[in-house]
Amino acid sequence: MQTNLADFIKDTPDGREADAILRSCVHCGFCNATCPTYQLLGDERDGPRGRIYLIKQVLEGARPTERTQTHLDRCLTCRACETTCPSGVRYARLADIGRAVIAAQVGRPARERLRRGALRRALAEPRVFAPLLALGQALAPLLPAKLRARVPARVPRSDWAPLRHARRMLVLEGCVQPSLAPNINAAASRVLDRLGISLERVPGAGCCGAIDFHLDAGDTARRRMRSLIDAWWPRLEGAEAIVFTASGCGMMLKDYVYALADDAAYRDKARRIAASCRDLSEVLLANRDALRAVCRPATARRVAFHSPCSLQHGLRIRGAVETLLGELGYELTPVPDAHLCCGSAGTYSILQPELSQRLKVAKQTALNCGRPEEILTANIGCLTHLHTGLQTRIRHWIEAVDERIATVA
Ligand code: SF4
Ligand code: SF4
Repeated sequence: MQTNLADFIKDTPDGREADAILRSCVHCGFCNATCPTYQLLGDERDGPRGRIYLIKQVLEGARPTERTQTHLDRCLTCRACETTCPSGVRYARLADIGRAVIAAQVGRPARERLRRGALRRALAEPRVFAPLLALGQALAPLLPAKLRARVPARVPRSDWAPLRHARRMLVLEGCVQPSLAPNINAAASRVLDRLGISLERVPGAGCCGAIDFHLDAGDTARRRMRSLIDAWWPRLEGAEAIVFTASGCGMMLKDYVYALADDAAYRDKARRIAASCRDLSEVLLANRDALRAVCRPATARRVAFHSPCSLQHGLRIRGAVETLLGELGYELTPVPDAHLCCGSAGTYSILQPELSQRLKVAKQTALNCGRPEEILTANIGCLTHLHTGLQTRIRHWIEAVDERIATVA
């Protein structure tokens, strides 16, 4: 695609990167076929090709409007279009650049700024989120049934494996996961412990910055990223990897390379952190023989796996969890349109409730169509989002693996 970027951006790092991405797009439109919002709305401007064109116009100097911003806001950043694109267009990176420019030029109404600010403060800070969740759980019995169903149930904490091995890995704690589902990382620590690896929590290694980054607060996001790097840095030497159990956070960690590219003090550290990060499924797949050896012999259990967009499109990890589950004796039920987003997408379910709800119902139907006994997934956002209104049990896949290991003497 020919480009002619405007003076305000063309000689900046973002401008050069956006220009290269725009030029790689041949405007074929294959990506529209797998875009959830294009499928729902049927408007070219709500598909990747149209959004790329809107961003191009803005970067070439056209004045964006609230309408432009709405089409970008409706994008889930699910990256299904990147998987489909035959030209390797890095849509999500372009969308990040375009959104920041549009937010600076169009702004947001005061009410929307307040809402986004409140969301950022409530979700990204565990010391704010934990008491809010506890309050919601305490008041839940008093709420109308529809609202009550939306409050996540209290989950008992389970024991973290002791740090006793020479082999060790660090873990990302995350922001909402320690309150919503503390058992996920604890289960990961127990499974890795049986494989001779200690999983180490580092104080201060909380939010990855994704929530701020996607809510027009790039500077705050970068502050969080630097503080997370600072927390890990002294413990990184000798650690085999940094493990994440929420693929959405993992995708952000990998993107530190771009987010901190202009920061001379942190650029190299960001690269090293991103290179050290591994999804838990990658770690276990590399230790699959040892894993099978410590697992209870399989009894057939039918499960559906919901592969989050961040895992399959963002991180491009496909089939790893399914392979592990299959090797442990699980029977995977079919999931039609598994490439489509469930509508969670960070804070999308709150900011775009109508579209999100439609995607959720479609995903729940798809996951249940093979009549699984339970549904497993790999991201706390999808898990919490899909849980509402679902009759089938849903949890993180490592909790199922942990169960098999826990029964071995
Ligand atoms: S992003 Fe890729 S698939 Fe979509 S129009 Fe451009 S080149 Fe074609
Ligand atoms: S990231 Fe997802 S929602 Fe956004 S344009 Fe691409 S496929 Fe569509």
